[in-house]
Amino acid sequence: MTYRPPRQPPKPPTRPPLEPSERGDQRLLAALAQARAEDTYAAAKTCEACARERQATGDAEALCETHLARALGMGGWAP
Ligand SMILES: [Zn+2]
Repeated sequence: MTYRPPRQPPKPPTRPPLEPSERGDQRLLAALAQARAEDTYAAAKTCEACARERQATGDAEALCETHLARALGMGGWAP
C-alpha cells in the first residue's frame, strides 16, 4: 500500500474563527468609538475653541480640551 497525497491540500478557512474579544460587544464598542471620533471631529470643525487650538499649535487636527476629551471617550457623547 502506497501513500497517495491528496490532490489538493485542504483549503484554509477564508477567515479565522473570531476571538472572543472580537465578538459582539467589542466590535460594537470599536464601531462606536469610530463613530464618536468622526462625530467629534465633525463638531470640532465648527468649534471656535478648536479653531484657536489649531491656529495656536499649527496642527490641523488639534482639538480644544472639550473635544479632545470627547474624542478620547470622556466628557459625554452629546454634540
Ligand atoms: Zn472644540
